[in-house]
Amino acid sequence: MATADSSKRIKVLHVSPEAVPFCKVGGLADVVGSLPPSLKKSGADCRLLLPAWDGVLDAARDKGLKLERIPRSVDVAIDWRVCRGTLWKTSDGELPVYFLESPFFQGKNIYPQQLDPESVLPFVFLSFAALELEEVSEWNPDILHCHDWGTAPLIIALLWHKYYRLRQFEYRTVFTIHNLAHQGHLPLYSLRDWGIAEDAFTMFGLEYYGGANLMKGAVVGASAVTTVSPTYAWEIQTEEGGAGLGGLLRSHSHKVRGILNGLDTAYWNPLTDPLLPANYSQKDLTGKKKCRNALLEQLGWKEDGRPLFTSVGRMVDQKGFDILLPAIPRMVEWGCRLFLAGSGQHEYETAIQEASGRWPDSVASFIGYDEEIAHQAYAGGDFFLMPSKFEPCGLSQLISLRYGTLPVARSVGGLADTVFEYGAPGGNGFLIFDYSPEGLLSAIGRALDVFWNDAGGYRAAQVSGMASDFSWDRSAPVYHDLYRSLLP
Ligand code: ADP
Repeated sequence: MATADSSKRIKVLHVSPEAVPFCKVGGLADVVGSLPPSLKKSGADCRLLLPAWDGVLDAARDKGLKLERIPRSVDVAIDWRVCRGTLWKTSDGELPVYFLESPFFQGKNIYPQQLDPESVLPFVFLSFAALELEEVSEWNPDILHCHDWGTAPLIIALLWHKYYRLRQFEYRTVFTIHNLAHQGHLPLYSLRDWGIAEDAFTMFGLEYYGGANLMKGAVVGASAVTTVSPTYAWEIQTEEGGAGLGGLLRSHSHKVRGILNGLDTAYWNPLTDPLLPANYSQKDLTGKKKCRNALLEQLGWKEDGRPLFTSVGRMVDQKGFDILLPAIPRMVEWGCRLFLAGSGQHEYETAIQEASGRWPDSVASFIGYDEEIAHQAYAGGDFFLMPSKFEPCGLSQLISLRYGTLPVARSVGGLADTVFEYGAPGGNGFLIFDYSPEGLLSAIGRALDVFWNDAGGYRAAQVSGMASDFSWDRSAPVYHDLYRSLLP
């Protein structure tokens, strides 16, 4: 059973569906791959539990990590069936990681296209297995730190599972909302099959418009709720930004906090990045010019002095494609070049490809996921486009700032906390204030003005961005304090 006093090292188990360098869908993987190691460096006994999706164990071994099989199996009851998993633990490396192996995680693409009572089961198994870890591994965390809807069943089980709530765990739980857009909706009574008791199925529990909302259950049940930037923490408590949970989050505001994400600054470092054709730092940007030339060459474009706007990310509604696409003709007319890397909604992928067919010397795209191309786009651009409709934190703008590529970003969520308008103190980019093609073009117009007419100012903004501290050194201590405040 978990016990703690303030003189002891805090023991924290992070539970997540994804984490770099083992498996990644989006920014959540970056955060979970870098926050626990920094917490460990700052003195916490921090560990990570991750599903062994296809290729994950091989990825760990390829990184040179040694894996030990834990002799006891992890047995979890779901719908009267005992589901068995095998736990592997790294015995070296900077962070102890437990990999949970089970048929639930085989042949899956991490997140299902459609969430239903069957496709949610890998996440239920992961969540319940976390509650068995103390028995199986003989390590008893004080804090269970869950990330997004996929690990919400853990917090739900502590409060409402007929068996787990009787076990009298002394865990404190932290639930981090990385993106409120994905809440995990299921038919209400399908949770009976997990062993969830009837008292969960009310408006004070996880009932939501007649269905079950996993994120709602986790917000109600968690000891603390964090999200990934201060502005987003405020936005999600409003009707407009709350995605249907604004009122709930307001009523729990005493335990909601926004803590800005950090970046793995050893990985994202233009001075050492092995995926770049040349390295550079804020003191000498010669290498950045080489990266730019290499990117232009790769795209089949001749250098003609035109500004290059790049972007890396999921091509989905959230990222502002509905204001970007109508702005492209004007951008081309104004002499901009545009390179977009990413994948997502079919209609956006097609529209971008059509634009590159129409303006082959000005618009180019890479549809797919490619780490090397992403690094080259971050380094090779003059400006980085991020016109997001909403953005919980956003890592891409942090990376672009670190790589000396000035962001043109919507003033929303974590973007508003990290991108500051050119000309203001600490100015490092250009803000889109109005969510419309005109709002985006207005910011691009200001960016072009500086690009063409104020080389010194452009350089100063680059240096301001590159000199900023985006490491976890800033935010990991805030999590540490939060954990401490939760212990008895
Ligand atoms: P989100 O989590 O909403 O997708 P973030 O900005 O928080 O957005 O994080 C996105 C992360 O995923 C960044 O590290 C970005 O470089 C990476 N990424 C997104 N799309 C691609 C892609 N197509 N190829 C390579 N990396 C990508």
